Amino acid sequence: MTHFDASKELLEFIVDRVNIGVFILNQNHEVQLWNSFMASNSGKSAEEVVGQNLFQCFPDLPERWFARKVNSVFMLKNFAFTSWEQRAYLFPFRHNRPVTGGMDHMCQDMTLMPIKNADGEVESVCIVLFDSTDTAIYRNMHQAAMQKLEMASRVDGLTQLFNRAHWQSRLVEEFSRAGRYKHPMSLLLFDLDHFKSINDKYGHLGGDAVLVRVAQLVMESLRESDVAGRYGGEEFGIILPNTDGGGAMVVAERLRRSIESSPVPFENLTIAMSASIGVVEFCSDFTDAEHMISKADEALYRAKEMGRNRVVPAS
Ligand code: GH3
Ligand code: MG
Ligand code: MG
Repeated sequence: MTHFDASKELLEFIVDRVNIGVFILNQNHEVQLWNSFMASNSGKSAEEVVGQNLFQCFPDLPERWFARKVNSVFMLKNFAFTSWEQRAYLFPFRHNRPVTGGMDHMCQDMTLMPIKNADGEVESVCIVLFDSTDTAIYRNMHQAAMQKLEMASRVDGLTQLFNRAHWQSRLVEEFSRAGRYKHPMSLLLFDLDHFKSINDKYGHLGGDAVLVRVAQLVMESLRESDVAGRYGGEEFGIILPNTDGGGAMVVAERLRRSIESSPVPFENLTIAMSASIGVVEFCSDFTDAEHMISKADEALYRAKEMGRNRVVPAS
């Protein structure tokens, strides 16, 4: 008996010192034990809570959900678990992290353990509540970093348009979609005129400023569903889903005019620019997306031959 009392004291001492929430409920959801962690975080001491119904002490708890969890332990006589990933917390405790990533409460994992009497009946349920805020914060930070990385791997650093690899994979998707659903689809390929002489005259930085501005003009002139990418140095591609050749010509001509009429401020100068654009409409005779690109490229080449600063449809 004395031996048991000593270990009971020791247990109570430990339960009160650990940095984990521990509380015990009986069948009526009355609190039997309430450790210091629960007291300091909830603002209600053991004296206020023990002997009282948990849900009357804390009317804001999600009673239906938590009571069902607790009752299932009484019935099934087995452990139960809850994770912050399903429900962020039971008690709206504060946490003391300076960096939260939008997390305003302590995230909580819980283990619910049956406490059985000599007959094997569950007399009460002990709930152990872990603070998993750090895990949640690191998870959020990790996800945000992964998202950034994924975005960076798709985007061209200078213009913020899609890079060639991503743009081409989107073209392959749109190409097969157009074939499958018999939707129209078009492609613009354009190249800035005499860009070498822009570089020669204004330097590489001047050339870069032109590329950035052209990318802005492209974004301004497109619809949400259009997909613009930097295909090469000063060559760009635009996928126009659900757009036939006539519609694509209109888009291309609007873009050509906006480029022509938007000289780029650079240092104390302005750099005039223009672009030649090849336009091609999807056709079921095309063997693949590459075939479609080569058609657009041919049209672009003809636009250059015909004097530049113009839009030419593929033959
Ligand atoms: P054309 O009208 O026939 O297209 O003449 P062009 O001078 O534009 O000829 P071309 O398209 O062959 O030249 C592309 C030039 O673009 C070559 C290269 O120096 C330049 N360039 C490619 N990428 C970049 C870049 O990222 N920044 C800058 N500033 N220049 C680039
Ligand atoms: Mg060029
Ligand atoms: Mg070029």
